[in-house]
Amino acid sequence: MSDCLEVRLWGTRGSLPAPGPHTQIFGGNTSCIEVRAGDQVLIFDAGTGIRELGTSLMQGGSPPPVHLFFSHYHWDHIMGFPFFAPIYVSGAPLHLYGETKNGQSVLEILSGQMHPPYFPIKWNMVTADIDWTPVEPDEDVVLGDVTVKTCRLNHPQHALSYRVEYAGRSVVYATDIEHGSDLDTVFIDFIRGADVLIMDCSFTEAEYPARLGWGHATWEAGVEFAARADVETFVIFHHLPERTDPEVAAIEQQAQAIRPNTFAAREGMTFSLPRR
Ligand SMILES: [Zn+2]
Ligand SMILES: [Zn+2]
Repeated sequence: MSDCLEVRLWGTRGSLPAPGPHTQIFGGNTSCIEVRAGDQVLIFDAGTGIRELGTSLMQGGSPPPVHLFFSHYHWDHIMGFPFFAPIYVSGAPLHLYGETKNGQSVLEILSGQMHPPYFPIKWNMVTADIDWTPVEPDEDVVLGDVTVKTCRLNHPQHALSYRVEYAGRSVVYATDIEHGSDLDTVFIDFIRGADVLIMDCSFTEAEYPARLGWGHATWEAGVEFAARADVETFVIFHHLPERTDPEVAAIEQQAQAIRPNTFAAREGMTFSLPRR
Protein backbone atom coordinates (compact mmCIF):
# COMPACT_ATOMS: atom_id res chain seq x y z
CA MET A 1 0.00 0.00 0.00
CA SER A 2 1.34 3.39 -0.98
CA ASP A 3 1.41 6.00 1.77
CA CYS A 4 0.88 8.89 -0.65
CA LEU A 5 -2.03 10.96 -1.81
CA GLU A 6 -1.83 10.48 -5.57
CA VAL A 7 -3.78 12.31 -8.24
CA ARG A 8 -4.10 11.55 -11.95
CA LEU A 9 -6.01 13.62 -14.48
CA TRP A 10 -7.92 11.51 -17.04
CA GLY A 11 -10.15 14.24 -18.50
CA THR A 12 -9.42 17.97 -18.41
CA ARG A 13 -11.85 19.47 -20.93
CA GLY A 14 -15.11 21.23 -20.10
CA SER A 15 -18.54 21.23 -21.72
CA LEU A 16 -17.90 18.81 -24.61
CA PRO A 17 -15.19 16.31 -25.61
CA ALA A 18 -12.78 17.90 -28.08
CA PRO A 19 -10.57 15.26 -29.72
CA GLY A 20 -8.37 16.16 -32.67
CA PRO A 21 -5.08 17.70 -33.70
CA HIS A 22 -5.58 20.92 -31.71
CA THR A 23 -5.99 19.28 -28.30
CA GLN A 24 -3.30 16.60 -28.24
CA ILE A 25 -1.19 18.18 -25.50
CA PHE A 26 -3.84 19.14 -22.96
CA GLY A 27 -6.36 16.45 -23.96
CA GLY A 28 -9.86 16.26 -25.37
CA ASN A 29 -11.67 14.15 -22.75
CA THR A 30 -14.10 15.73 -20.31
CA SER A 31 -13.79 15.91 -16.54
CA CYS A 32 -12.48 12.89 -14.67
CA ILE A 33 -9.80 12.65 -12.01
CA GLU A 34 -8.52 9.70 -10.02
CA VAL A 35 -7.29 10.05 -6.45
CA ARG A 36 -5.50 7.21 -4.68
CA ALA A 37 -5.37 7.54 -0.93
CA GLY A 38 -3.57 4.55 0.55
CA ASP A 39 -5.49 1.54 -0.79
CA GLN A 40 -8.67 3.55 -1.57
CA VAL A 41 -9.59 4.41 -5.16
CA LEU A 42 -11.61 7.63 -5.47
CA ILE A 43 -12.85 9.06 -8.76
CA PHE A 44 -14.32 12.51 -9.28
CA ASP A 45 -16.79 12.83 -12.15
CA ALA A 46 -17.47 10.49 -15.03
CA GLY A 47 -16.68 12.61 -18.05
CA THR A 48 -15.28 10.80 -21.08
CA GLY A 49 -11.89 10.50 -19.35
CA ILE A 50 -13.35 7.71 -17.20
CA ARG A 51 -13.37 5.27 -20.13
CA GLU A 52 -9.59 4.86 -20.16
CA LEU A 53 -9.47 4.95 -16.37
CA GLY A 54 -11.91 2.03 -16.39
CA THR A 55 -9.62 0.14 -18.76
CA SER A 56 -6.67 0.72 -16.44
CA LEU A 57 -8.67 -0.53 -13.42
CA MET A 58 -9.53 -3.73 -15.31
CA GLN A 59 -5.87 -4.70 -15.69
CA GLY A 60 -5.35 -7.83 -13.67
CA GLY A 61 -8.92 -9.04 -14.16
CA SER A 62 -11.24 -7.72 -11.50
CA PRO A 63 -11.46 -4.00 -10.66
CA PRO A 64 -10.80 -2.76 -7.11
CA PRO A 65 -13.65 -1.23 -5.07
CA VAL A 66 -14.29 2.27 -6.42
CA HIS A 67 -15.74 5.38 -4.76
CA LEU A 68 -17.16 7.60 -7.52
CA PHE A 69 -18.14 11.18 -6.60
CA PHE A 70 -20.15 13.59 -8.77
CA SER A 71 -19.76 17.37 -8.74
CA HIS A 72 -23.08 17.68 -10.59
CA TYR A 73 -24.86 16.07 -13.54
CA HIS A 74 -24.26 18.25 -16.59
CA TRP A 75 -23.46 16.04 -19.60
CA ASP A 76 -19.72 16.62 -19.59
CA HIS A 77 -19.49 15.17 -16.07
CA ILE A 78 -21.60 12.01 -16.54
CA MET A 79 -21.39 10.99 -20.21
CA GLY A 80 -18.50 8.56 -19.66
CA PHE A 81 -20.35 6.53 -17.03
CA PRO A 82 -21.97 4.04 -19.48
CA PHE A 83 -18.45 3.38 -20.88
CA PHE A 84 -16.82 2.72 -17.50
CA ALA A 85 -15.96 -0.98 -17.87
CA PRO A 86 -16.22 -1.95 -14.15
CA ILE A 87 -20.00 -1.34 -14.18
CA TYR A 88 -20.38 -4.46 -16.36
CA VAL A 89 -18.31 -6.69 -14.04
CA SER A 90 -20.63 -8.85 -11.98
CA GLY A 91 -20.33 -8.04 -8.28
CA ALA A 92 -17.64 -5.34 -8.68
CA PRO A 93 -18.08 -2.95 -5.72
CA LEU A 94 -18.98 0.58 -6.83
CA HIS A 95 -20.02 3.30 -4.38
CA LEU A 96 -21.65 6.42 -5.85
CA TYR A 97 -21.82 9.81 -4.13
CA GLY A 98 -23.68 12.91 -5.29
CA GLU A 99 -26.49 15.30 -4.58
CA THR A 100 -30.15 14.40 -4.99
CA LYS A 101 -31.56 16.69 -7.70
CA ASN A 102 -35.22 17.25 -8.50
CA GLY A 103 -36.03 14.33 -6.20
CA GLN A 104 -33.74 11.97 -8.13
CA SER A 105 -30.84 10.16 -6.50
CA VAL A 106 -27.40 9.97 -8.07
CA LEU A 107 -28.22 6.39 -9.13
CA GLU A 108 -31.52 7.37 -10.76
CA ILE A 109 -29.85 10.20 -12.65
CA LEU A 110 -27.01 8.00 -13.95
CA SER A 111 -29.31 5.14 -14.94
CA GLY A 112 -31.68 7.69 -16.51
CA GLN A 113 -29.07 8.65 -19.11
CA MET A 114 -29.00 4.98 -20.17
CA HIS A 115 -32.76 4.65 -20.68
CA PRO A 116 -34.13 4.30 -24.23
CA PRO A 117 -33.80 6.16 -26.55
CA TYR A 118 -30.46 7.42 -25.22
CA PHE A 119 -28.46 4.21 -24.96
CA PRO A 120 -28.51 0.67 -26.44
CA ILE A 121 -27.54 -1.38 -23.37
CA LYS A 122 -30.25 -1.98 -20.80
CA TRP A 123 -29.65 -1.08 -17.15
CA ASN A 124 -30.16 -4.72 -16.11
CA MET A 125 -26.85 -5.49 -17.85
CA VAL A 126 -25.09 -3.23 -15.37
CA THR A 127 -24.10 -6.00 -12.98
CA ALA A 128 -21.63 -4.28 -10.66
CA ASP A 129 -22.57 -4.22 -6.98
CA ILE A 130 -23.63 -0.56 -6.85
CA ASP A 131 -24.71 1.41 -3.81
CA TRP A 132 -25.10 5.15 -3.44
CA THR A 133 -24.89 7.83 -0.78
CA PRO A 134 -26.64 11.18 -1.13
CA VAL A 135 -24.20 13.99 -0.32
CA GLU A 136 -25.06 17.48 0.91
CA PRO A 137 -22.81 20.55 0.96
CA ASP A 138 -20.68 20.85 4.13
CA GLU A 139 -21.09 17.13 4.81
CA ASP A 140 -18.03 14.90 5.27
CA VAL A 141 -17.68 11.45 3.77
CA VAL A 142 -15.29 9.35 5.86
CA LEU A 143 -13.69 6.30 4.26
CA GLY A 144 -11.37 4.80 6.87
CA ASP A 145 -8.51 7.26 7.29
CA VAL A 146 -9.58 9.28 4.24
CA THR A 147 -11.90 12.26 4.70
CA VAL A 148 -13.77 13.85 1.79
CA LYS A 149 -15.18 17.29 2.60
CA THR A 150 -17.78 19.07 0.46
CA CYS A 151 -18.62 22.67 -0.41
CA ARG A 152 -21.41 24.30 -2.44
CA LEU A 153 -20.26 25.91 -5.71
CA ASN A 154 -21.98 28.73 -7.57
CA HIS A 155 -23.15 27.12 -10.84
CA PRO A 156 -26.52 26.76 -12.63
CA GLN A 157 -28.38 23.97 -10.72
CA HIS A 158 -25.40 24.06 -8.31
CA ALA A 159 -22.30 21.90 -8.07
CA LEU A 160 -20.24 20.41 -5.24
CA SER A 161 -16.53 20.77 -4.63
CA TYR A 162 -14.66 17.93 -2.90
CA ARG A 163 -11.58 18.14 -0.70
CA VAL A 164 -9.75 14.86 -0.06
CA GLU A 165 -7.60 14.71 3.07
CA TYR A 166 -5.19 11.87 3.72
CA ALA A 167 -1.70 11.45 5.17
CA GLY A 168 -1.51 15.12 6.20
CA ARG A 169 -2.15 16.13 2.57
CA SER A 170 -5.11 17.58 0.72
CA VAL A 171 -6.35 17.94 -2.83
CA VAL A 172 -9.41 19.96 -3.88
CA TYR A 173 -11.48 19.27 -6.97
CA ALA A 174 -13.60 22.33 -7.79
CA THR A 175 -15.64 22.33 -10.97
CA ASP A 176 -17.90 23.92 -12.20
CA ILE A 177 -17.70 27.28 -10.40
CA GLU A 178 -18.43 30.90 -11.21
CA HIS A 179 -16.72 33.52 -9.04
CA GLY A 180 -18.28 36.78 -7.89
CA SER A 181 -21.04 35.41 -5.61
CA ASP A 182 -21.58 35.32 -1.85
CA LEU A 183 -20.04 31.84 -1.92
CA ASP A 184 -16.55 33.16 -2.77
CA THR A 185 -15.47 33.61 0.86
CA VAL A 186 -16.88 30.19 1.83
CA PHE A 187 -14.95 28.65 -1.06
CA ILE A 188 -11.70 30.39 -0.14
CA ASP A 189 -11.99 29.02 3.41
CA PHE A 190 -12.71 25.57 1.96
CA ILE A 191 -9.58 25.48 -0.23
CA ARG A 192 -7.28 27.08 2.37
CA GLY A 193 -3.85 25.49 2.56
CA ALA A 194 -4.62 22.74 0.01
CA ASP A 195 -1.59 21.04 -1.52
CA VAL A 196 -3.30 20.87 -4.91
CA LEU A 197 -6.33 22.82 -6.16
CA ILE A 198 -7.87 21.70 -9.46
CA MET A 199 -10.33 24.43 -10.47
CA ASP A 200 -12.60 25.26 -13.37
CA CYS A 201 -11.03 28.24 -15.17
CA SER A 202 -12.93 28.07 -18.44
CA PHE A 203 -12.67 31.71 -19.39
CA THR A 204 -10.24 34.59 -19.63
CA GLU A 205 -11.09 37.94 -18.07
CA ALA A 206 -11.58 39.35 -21.60
CA GLU A 207 -14.12 36.63 -22.48
CA TYR A 208 -16.01 36.73 -19.19
CA PRO A 209 -18.34 39.76 -19.59
CA ALA A 210 -20.18 38.06 -22.47
CA ARG A 211 -20.54 34.86 -20.42
CA LEU A 212 -21.78 36.16 -17.10
CA GLY A 213 -24.02 33.61 -15.38
CA TRP A 214 -22.80 30.64 -17.44
CA GLY A 215 -21.33 29.18 -14.26
CA HIS A 216 -17.58 29.26 -14.90
CA ALA A 217 -14.57 31.14 -13.56
CA THR A 218 -11.71 32.96 -15.24
CA TRP A 219 -8.13 31.80 -14.76
CA GLU A 220 -7.35 35.24 -13.35
CA ALA A 221 -9.94 34.72 -10.57
CA GLY A 222 -8.61 31.20 -9.96
CA VAL A 223 -5.05 32.44 -9.52
CA GLU A 224 -6.28 35.08 -7.09
CA PHE A 225 -8.28 32.53 -5.05
CA ALA A 226 -5.26 30.20 -4.90
CA ALA A 227 -3.04 33.04 -3.66
CA ARG A 228 -5.55 34.23 -1.06
CA ALA A 229 -5.99 30.70 0.28
CA ASP A 230 -2.27 29.81 0.35
CA VAL A 231 -2.76 26.88 -2.02
CA GLU A 232 0.50 25.13 -2.91
CA THR A 233 -0.12 23.94 -6.49
CA PHE A 234 -2.83 25.46 -8.65
CA VAL A 235 -4.25 23.61 -11.67
CA ILE A 236 -6.28 25.38 -14.38
CA PHE A 237 -9.01 22.90 -15.38
CA HIS A 238 -12.17 22.51 -17.56
CA HIS A 239 -10.64 23.99 -20.72
CA LEU A 240 -13.17 25.20 -23.29
CA PRO A 241 -13.64 22.68 -26.13
CA GLU A 242 -12.57 25.27 -28.72
CA ARG A 243 -9.38 26.20 -26.83
CA THR A 244 -6.35 24.95 -28.83
CA ASP A 245 -3.12 23.66 -27.29
CA PRO A 246 -1.20 26.88 -28.07
CA GLU A 247 -4.00 28.93 -26.49
CA VAL A 248 -4.02 26.83 -23.31
CA ALA A 249 -0.20 27.00 -23.19
CA ALA A 250 -0.37 30.80 -23.47
CA ILE A 251 -2.83 30.97 -20.56
CA GLU A 252 -0.55 28.71 -18.51
CA GLN A 253 2.42 30.98 -19.25
CA GLN A 254 0.52 34.16 -18.28
CA ALA A 255 -0.73 32.51 -15.09
CA GLN A 256 2.78 31.30 -14.17
CA ALA A 257 4.11 34.84 -14.55
CA ILE A 258 1.72 35.87 -11.76
CA ARG A 259 1.88 32.70 -9.68
CA PRO A 260 4.77 30.31 -10.47
CA ASN A 261 3.39 27.02 -9.09
CA THR A 262 0.48 26.98 -11.55
CA PHE A 263 -0.21 24.50 -14.36
CA ALA A 264 -2.81 23.99 -17.05
CA ALA A 265 -4.37 20.54 -16.63
CA ARG A 266 -3.06 17.94 -19.10
CA GLU A 267 -4.47 14.47 -19.59
CA GLY A 268 -2.15 12.03 -17.81
CA MET A 269 -0.76 14.67 -15.43
CA THR A 270 -0.04 13.26 -11.96
CA PHE A 271 0.71 14.64 -8.50
CA SER A 272 2.21 12.47 -5.79
CA LEU A 273 2.06 13.82 -2.25
CA PRO A 274 3.98 11.73 0.31
CA ARG A 275 2.79 11.55 3.92
CA ARG A 276 3.64 14.62 5.95
ZN1 LIG B 1 -18.67 21.19 -16.86
ZN1 LIG C 1 -21.78 22.33 -15.28
